[in-house]
This record gives sequence, C-alpha cells and structure tokens, in this order.
Amino acid sequence: MSLTVIRSAEGLRRALAPHRDAGKLIGLVPTMGALHDGHLSLVHRASRDCGIVVASLFVNPTQFGENEDFDAYPRDESRDLSLFDEYGVDFVYAPSVDEMYPDGFKITITVQGVTEGLCGAARPGHFDGVTTVVSKLFADCKPDAAYFGQKDYQQMKVIERMVSDLDLNIRIVGLPVVRERDGLALSSRNAYLSAAHRRVAPSMFGTMRAVAERLHSGIDLDAQSEWGQSALLDAGFDRVDYFEVRDAATMEKPREFGPGMRIFAAAWLGQTRLIDNISADFEPE
Ligand code: AMP
Repeated sequence: MSLTVIRSAEGLRRALAPHRDAGKLIGLVPTMGALHDGHLSLVHRASRDCGIVVASLFVNPTQFGENEDFDAYPRDESRDLSLFDEYGVDFVYAPSVDEMYPDGFKITITVQGVTEGLCGAARPGHFDGVTTVVSKLFADCKPDAAYFGQKDYQQMKVIERMVSDLDLNIRIVGLPVVRERDGLALSSRNAYLSAAHRRVAPSMFGTMRAVAERLHSGIDLDAQSEWGQSALLDAGFDRVDYFEVRDAATMEKPREFGPGMRIFAAAWLGQTRLIDNISADFEPE
C-alpha cells in the first residue's frame, strides 16, 4: 500500500474504518516531523506489530511555552513524507493547527503526579499540551498500539498514565533512545547546534554514565544531582534545568540507590535545550 496523506480528523476516521473492520491492528506513531532514526525506529517497530501504520506529523503549538522555539522548529514536510513512505507508513495524518484546534476549542487534558518535576517543572504547561494533542490523536485514530521513544521518558510515563486512567485500552510501546556514535541522543533540535556546541553535546550522555558508575560504586545518591550539574557546566553547557535520579516505574525520587532507576538530564547549549536519560542498571537497553 502506498502512502496516503490525510489532513482532517474526519478523513482519518473514514480512511481507517475499513481496515479496522477487516480486523487489522492499527499502530500510531505521533511525531512533530524533522524525522531522524529515532522516529524511524518507532515506525519500524509499529510495522512489525501492526497491519496498518499511521504516523502523525504535527508541530503542536500548545506544548511550546511562550518563549520557546515553536516558530523556529525545523519543518520539512516533503522530506518527512518521503521517509515515511520509504519506511512503509500507510497513512500520515498531517492536520493544520486550525483543524486540530478549531475556534472555540476549550479542553485541556491534565495528568497529575508524574508530570511534576523534571520537564514538567522546567516547561510549565508542556505536558498539558502533549496530553491534549495525543488524546485527540487517539480519538481520531483509535489505534490498538501507540509508539513512543524513551528519549522523552517522562512524556511516555505521562501517556501511560493517561491511557490507564481514561481506560483507553491502547497499548503504549516505549522504545530505546537512538543515539549518534558519540552518545548524543538523536533529536530534531540537534540541527540547531553550532559546531562548537555539537562537540560539547555528547558529554550529557557521558555525564549520566559517569553518575551511573558512581552510584554503582556506592557514592551517595543525594550528592549525584549536584555532581552531575557541575559536570555538565564544566563540560561547556550554559545552564542546567535538572539532573536527577528517579524510579523508572513510578518516576518518584528514590531515598537510596537500587535497581530500576533512571538518570534524567536537561541542559542548554546556547538557545538549544537538550534532554536525555539512561537506565542506571547497566543492562543493555
Ligand atoms: P518528536 O517529533 O520530538 O515529538 O518525537 C516523536 C517521537 O519520537 C517521541 O515519541 C519521541 O520520544 C521519539 N524520539 C525522539 N527522539 C528519539 C530518539 N533519539 N530515540 C528514540 N525515540 C525518539
């Protein structure tokens, strides 16, 4: 089946109905475009699991803060569409902002608890924008499964909570962070980095690994946030939003180090904000 681009929610519902009636599993991969191998790993897995793969392409204004990079966010729809086509996506849902948020749009979906701290604290309102748009995507697509990257681990946990609290009956599949050879997590925002900043960027991964090693060697958990923040600043980051260890299942702050924890970081290189996280377990992800 070749790629079909759909611009309206109604069009998406109509296009998918016969496939659903035919008993095909529908997999959804939400994206904001500017595709890279991280996005494509989600598409790849969705096509393995599902008979029909839908990818969404929508730079969602409500998840950007007022002084954030909504206008500057990289957009290249024709490149994204050919990549989706090449990777076997059946339908791309690429609505306009007006289609997604028509005049009089009045709802916000808020998940409590897991949205607190980390990116929830650094980007007020961000997760409300994410859960609201993803709810609409789920309502329009009615997928059996939806695919998210662990690159945005907190976001994935927020979506899991939303799906479970709203009884949405959608399987949320979280996939490992895809990285450059030097450890930098792939991100559409990496395109903003100057050559000098690009050289500093992999030290976020290096610092998280160093903290994992320190934790395994018995160095106190409480000291790690501060150590990680200083290490990022020493490496050349301009500002650190957070550097924290959290329980990977509950996202709570642990009292002491143990299995099943992740290390989370967000920091700035000039105008570019990078986030990343790794398991502290030392198991291949
Ligand atoms: P975005 O287009 O940035 O909203 O990302 C769309 C999806 O791709 C989200 O589920 C992200 O977590 C996922 N993603 C982004 N970067 C990566 C990466 N480096 N590895 C794996 N998944 C990723």
